[in-house]
Amino acid sequence: KFDVSLPAGGNDELGELSVAIRKLASDLERMKKERNEFLASISHELSTPLTYLIGYLKVAMRQDLTEEERNHYLMIIAEESDRMKDLLKNLMDLAKMDEMTFVVSKTNFSSRKFAEDIYRLVEPSFALKNINLNLIGLEDFSIHADPLRLEQIVLNLLDNALKYSSEHTTVLFEITKDQNRTVITVEDEGIGIPQEQIGMIFEKLFRVEKSRSRTFGGSGLGLAIVKELVEAHGGSIEVQSEVHKGSKFTIKI
Ligand code: ADP
Repeated sequence: KFDVSLPAGGNDELGELSVAIRKLASDLERMKKERNEFLASISHELSTPLTYLIGYLKVAMRQDLTEEERNHYLMIIAEESDRMKDLLKNLMDLAKMDEMTFVVSKTNFSSRKFAEDIYRLVEPSFALKNINLNLIGLEDFSIHADPLRLEQIVLNLLDNALKYSSEHTTVLFEITKDQNRTVITVEDEGIGIPQEQIGMIFEKLFRVEKSRSRTFGGSGLGLAIVKELVEAHGGSIEVQSEVHKGSKFTIKI
């Protein structure tokens, strides 16, 4: 606790200073509280998969299992470990972004090649779930951005579109140009986001329903990372969404 006892702010300079210090102290207090809450969420996020891991490990070690059963458990252990690794990687990314130690190295590259490479990479996962991924707007122009970071942004959005859509729906993926800005949209016909929660989805570890994570996978960090990466490019991100109709994410860089 920061204990600042200063005279109440009067109209003189000392008064102003005292008001400023008081504000600083309350800001610090709030940051400390946020950091503790964040740490508590992370501990929870890591301990849940760890509990599963240990449980499955103990089962997989049983002597009376058939090879098939053992393989089944080992597979779950491998998947759960991957999830934890992803979660840790995301957390490290966010920590680096907070410290500003991470660099955006912008180059010029072709919009069409960028879009087509991503399409080729993700389309099989959409096909597997019977979701139609449509790449539109194949006009070719030069994008000025960090190609790896931009790919990370788009993959996160497409990953969400895939996760939160059901089969026989369509996801539109478009890259166009608006004056001198690149506009990327990912639009799905999935479960949508309740209006009152749209403002929160970019917060670290936020999920519309906590129970969604077990059903859909994911850690609630994807969009926090997307937002930081977009901002590091000096860009903006917008969401339009309606429950049971779908969501549309628009990035301008
Ligand atoms: P997660 O890893 O849980 O998907 P994100 O940070 O990517 O985390 O997203 C935060 C939350 O926003 C998700 O848990 C989900 O509830 C909601 N969300 C994100 N994208 C979509 C989408 N395309 N459709 C519906 N809900 C979404």
